[in-house]
Amino acid sequence: MRDEAARVITLGTGGGPSWVQGTDRAGIATAVVVGDRTYLIDAGSGVGKQLIDAGLTLPSLRAIFITHLHSDHVVDLASLMIFGMMRIQRRDTPIPIVGPGSRGCLPWRDADGLLPVSPGHPTPGISATVEHLLHAYATDINDRRYDAKRPSPWELFEAQEITLPATLDFHPNLNPCPAMEPIQVFEDDAVRVTSILVKHPPLAPAFAFRLDCDEGSVVVSGDTAPTDNTVRIADGAELLLHEALDMDWAERIYAASPTAEHQAVLEHHRAAHTTPAQAAAIAEKAGVRTLALHHLVPHSTPRPAWEQMAESFSGRVMAPDDLEVCALTRRRTLPVGRHVG
Ligand SMILES: [Zn+2]
Ligand SMILES: [Zn+2]
Repeated sequence: MRDEAARVITLGTGGGPSWVQGTDRAGIATAVVVGDRTYLIDAGSGVGKQLIDAGLTLPSLRAIFITHLHSDHVVDLASLMIFGMMRIQRRDTPIPIVGPGSRGCLPWRDADGLLPVSPGHPTPGISATVEHLLHAYATDINDRRYDAKRPSPWELFEAQEITLPATLDFHPNLNPCPAMEPIQVFEDDAVRVTSILVKHPPLAPAFAFRLDCDEGSVVVSGDTAPTDNTVRIADGAELLLHEALDMDWAERIYAASPTAEHQAVLEHHRAAHTTPAQAAAIAEKAGVRTLALHHLVPHSTPRPAWEQMAESFSGRVMAPDDLEVCALTRRRTLPVGRHVG
């Protein structure tokens, strides 16, 4: 089973809820492959096709981890489950989809009398999200169950919401990212997965994940402003995949605009995301071996520019392309180039 090195494959490295003309970056998604098992973090646009193009198979999926419920991180979760229904055989235990619980209340800021979408249930967590997605496809699912005798997606996948410690002073609006220690959210005989709150206002809860296996440790920051929680969970990891925003670009695009919408976008970028230089400082504090910038916004900033913006980090910096493979060898994370075949 351990015939190949444990490795991280950047399935999609683009951030944001859009399609971008002329980009090679699919929506955000990262695979960690240990032996014959695949663990997936986030399910952005194109994730299923990227998995296949990376040479991975749907039956190799062992767990899916969702950092937060912004659409660019879950927009292809439905296709993964529905198409997965045709490829994955029944198994003793369903594949867990580990993610945030309900926000619990709406964001308070600048409400301006706005009525929420789905007022009876305006902040579904990962369990309700999965339920809603699958129910939307009932016609298809029932057709395939009756016609092709396929297992139901509910037999193949099971949402699991991350439970925060009761002692933690978390509030989605007032205190969305209290200092905490990582908590375990998954374990099998190949990996142990821990999670920690990160700071992505107004969305909450938002999480980073750390996967530890015999060959090393990889951390995915999720979407976040700089926070000491990321430093905590990334402590001594071989590889930190951290989100990055080109703030010069954001200032150029939005700062001079008088529209309230553009000003709100700029404010969101400042409060909820991280520049490459800030990611470099986090990687330095955490003492990681390699910093890989992903969830890149915008997609158009060239790779060398991203890497240059984080050059203050004393370790290795990369801004990988999609389908790039990093072998995970304890204390040595080796970029081994683009997946071919
Ligand atoms: Zn995002
Ligand atoms: Zn987000």
